[in-house]
Amino acid sequence: MSMQTIFVVSDEAPALAELCSGARAAAAQVTAILFGSEADAAGAAGCGADRLLYRQPADGAVPEDYAAAIADEVKKEPSALVLVNNSIRGRCLAGKLGVFLDTAVLTSVSALERSGEELVCHRMVYGGMAQRGEVFTKPYGVITVGGGVFEAANDAPQAAVAPFEGAPQGSLKRITSTSKKEGGVDLVAAKRIVDVGRGIAKEEDLELCRKLAAVLGAEVGCSRPVAENNKWLPKSSYMGITGVQVKPELIVVLGVSGQIQHIGGINKSRVIVAVNKDKSAPIFKNADLGVVGDLYKVVPALIEKLS
Ligand SMILES: Cc1cc2nc3c(=O)[nH]c(=O)nc-3n(C[C@H](O)[C@H](O)[C@H](O)COP(=O)(O)OP(=O)(O)OC[C@H]3O[C@@H](n4cnc5c(N)ncnc54)[C@H](O)[C@@H]3O)c2cc1C
Repeated sequence: MSMQTIFVVSDEAPALAELCSGARAAAAQVTAILFGSEADAAGAAGCGADRLLYRQPADGAVPEDYAAAIADEVKKEPSALVLVNNSIRGRCLAGKLGVFLDTAVLTSVSALERSGEELVCHRMVYGGMAQRGEVFTKPYGVITVGGGVFEAANDAPQAAVAPFEGAPQGSLKRITSTSKKEGGVDLVAAKRIVDVGRGIAKEEDLELCRKLAAVLGAEVGCSRPVAENNKWLPKSSYMGITGVQVKPELIVVLGVSGQIQHIGGINKSRVIVAVNKDKSAPIFKNADLGVVGDLYKVVPALIEKLS
């Protein structure tokens, strides 16, 4: 399907510019729908869409309650792709949009490509071992795209901003809401990252990595087992194909073996420096600079040198 129009839907204003930039490269017409206030919309007007519709969810409503209303808006076009940010809310919304638009949903799309009349969606499959290209055979399609996949354009045009009038249709009503305790870091926006793997033996030793991050002016991220299994860092800190995809200027990778699932999240970094005591660790195949050594010796030496 040609799909010359892309609707970009996000519940996170900062994600809009990246998503619209990817959409703009693949379609003639881009409409952004932001769940946020008028002020959020004004701040995001330079996202690169032709028009930006905003909606602060009504009291007790959640973004996915607007799926039917968004589908009605999308159906004003003869064919269109709906690109939703890959947050938990975004994935819920994408599923419902698939129902209302009578089409399939592709999650974690990593590239969009025009091939003649077709709009091809690429994504990693088999745990990152292979790439697959797919096209929608129906007039509408729904995809989710994570942070860091596309690069925001610097000179994007200003969108025409207007409220989105659609009404919520929910089967759930939020009655309480408690902010989460874990402190999140914005790895997608970080210019420098210290990436911690299972080579760190104890939770207390993270302090060493934090010290290195402090002298580098970097954020601390990690591999999945450090967050999911050890629970030493918040889940939002792990990078990879099922985690955050980052593209900093510098990433210093400490005690990470370099499995494909992790590399898929960090391989857009401009410079990758790896420290691993195993000289045959796969991370060295992806690193620009590699240090074969014990991170407990290398990192203190680096901190001393850089301080
Ligand atoms: C479907 C699927 C999706 C996945 N998604 C992700 C994902 O998004 N992100 C992710 O990270 N993983 C993901 N994984 C898990 C992934 O396959 C790896 O298991 C994980 O990335 C390994 O983490 P690690 O490199 O920290 O640990 P390990 O593989 O255990 O590597 C630890 C490394 O530390 C080195 N080391 C040990 N001690 C020291 C020391 N003192 N000094 C220096 N080096 C040392 C070792 O030589 C080793 O290379 C996924 C797996 C599957 C199946």
